[in-house]
Amino acid sequence: MNIVRPDAARPMRRSPAKPVINREGDVIPPLAADAIRIVPLGGVEEIGKNMTAIEYGGDIIVVDIGFQFKDDDTPGVDFILPNTKYLEERRDKIRAVIITHGHLDHIGGIPYIMPRIGNPPMYTRLLTSVLILKRQEEFPGVPKIDMRVVEKNDTITVGKLKVRFFAVTHTIPDAMGVIIETPFGSIVHTGDLKVDHDGGIPTEREAEEYERAFPKDGSHKVLMLMADSTNVENPGFSLPEKTVHKNLEEIIKNMQGRLIIATFSSLLERLLKIVEAAEKYGKKVVVEGRSLKQNIEICKHLGLLKAKKETIISVDEIENYPPDRIVILSTGAQANDFSALVRMSQKTHAKIKITPRDTIILSSSVVPGNERPVQKLKDNLSRQGAKILHYRIADVHSSGHANRDETIWIHRAIRPKFFMPLHGYHYMLRTHCDAAKEANGLKEEDVVIPDNGNIVEIQAGGTKIVKLKEKAPSGLVLVDGFSVGDVQDVVIRDRQMLAQDGIFIIFGIVNASNGKLRKSPDIISRGFVYLRESQELLHEVRLLIRDSIEKSCKGQNPINMDFVKDNVTDAVSKYLLQKTAKRPMVIPVILTI
Ligand SMILES: [Zn+2]
Ligand SMILES: [Zn+2]
Repeated sequence: MNIVRPDAARPMRRSPAKPVINREGDVIPPLAADAIRIVPLGGVEEIGKNMTAIEYGGDIIVVDIGFQFKDDDTPGVDFILPNTKYLEERRDKIRAVIITHGHLDHIGGIPYIMPRIGNPPMYTRLLTSVLILKRQEEFPGVPKIDMRVVEKNDTITVGKLKVRFFAVTHTIPDAMGVIIETPFGSIVHTGDLKVDHDGGIPTEREAEEYERAFPKDGSHKVLMLMADSTNVENPGFSLPEKTVHKNLEEIIKNMQGRLIIATFSSLLERLLKIVEAAEKYGKKVVVEGRSLKQNIEICKHLGLLKAKKETIISVDEIENYPPDRIVILSTGAQANDFSALVRMSQKTHAKIKITPRDTIILSSSVVPGNERPVQKLKDNLSRQGAKILHYRIADVHSSGHANRDETIWIHRAIRPKFFMPLHGYHYMLRTHCDAAKEANGLKEEDVVIPDNGNIVEIQAGGTKIVKLKEKAPSGLVLVDGFSVGDVQDVVIRDRQMLAQDGIFIIFGIVNASNGKLRKSPDIISRGFVYLRESQELLHEVRLLIRDSIEKSCKGQNPINMDFVKDNVTDAVSKYLLQKTAKRPMVIPVILTI
């Protein structure tokens, strides 16, 4: 049997939403001796898969190796990775990988990509290193990471370059920015950050750290800044995380019934504060959800969690305490399938039943695309009588990324000559450039808005910044089950088609001697139309198939089966589109006997 996947013959209504630009034919010129090259390999057309390469004088430093979770454009795929072909071809020059902090959009690609780029030494702060190494345990086949833990005041030498660090405020401890010193000035990468402040005045601790890293006495020249653009569209200063902590503490203190707090497991600082606040008011904490449990364990191990051992109890001990002494910390604020809170909402959680005396805090914003599942989650919880608090009705969440005025403060503290925005969709990057101009009077020619794979160079001894016309390979790289592949756009297209209009399979048996069908063809379809109620359509399609097969076979000896199948696919696809306005995937299976 020969199943043809007639990709070329199939009518295409929608090309993949992300065009696959495969510019792998570009010959990339060598780097001049007086130039610095920066290649954002990911993270500048999306929030996710952050990775940037900085190259000078034969040395390459990589900052962050993130991944991106699947989205609507890539159904069925597990993750999307940055395209690292540029680095794979230059792996002998890579001196270091520096990781700014432990979020998956900055560390997620490590197990997949480190082996491909020669497993160079990795530098990061303590908590990040533990999160990375813990995750490596899930990938037993990959080479051991040469992990070198640094602190914010350290200076390291990689190749011929000196690298320093500075501490930044984010939602996870040990987040840092990177300062790479070159003879023409330094290249600064902030990682993800916001500014801790009181009513719009940055705290002393923030001011001191920036003054230490970028002294205003003129001794330090920043040639180029790359910075986080996520929230630059929001005006003013963001809600400080400490305000969220204070509000959560107030709620924990005054809560009369049982409290369930659902949040991201990546918001480590908040998790720690919740446990500490619960302890302060004599309450016990139950941790539900694998990623939460793991992160709490890591914090305990590193001494970041100050709470007593007895404060955290197992779910089986809930009954030993009155409801007002229980705080449940749970995953599922985004309504992810199988998360603890979703199971509670669907009454399938083995140990925790929602009651009208429960209050549930969704301590997170809603990630775009999750609106409907989150709505359903809230509906299900509310049907069971629980009270719900979320970020729109109380300050129980803040993002880890700077708003516009904080961003301007950061720019003024760092004072770069050139600027390139990172970490955001194109429009966010553009908005960030406007902020850069406002902050330090940069001109249009001082800023560059990149796409993934653009090659940006600071040329002529640090005097101008340009975007080369040649591009590093930037096609999608997908992790699909166990395989890591280059562009599998055919697979993705198939999945989109199957998801939208279903599949239509035709079985026919042709008499090889006369090219006639031996009996009426069989049809199987899924996700297309309900066949039992479409008898007339089926009848017509069968006639069409018979006609198409017999015409195609006519005069052929032997019969060219590929030709026959292509004709059948074309005819049936066209007919179904006319009759149903749908384009199912049509697969003819035709045997000759
Ligand atoms: Zn982050
Ligand atoms: Zn990030």
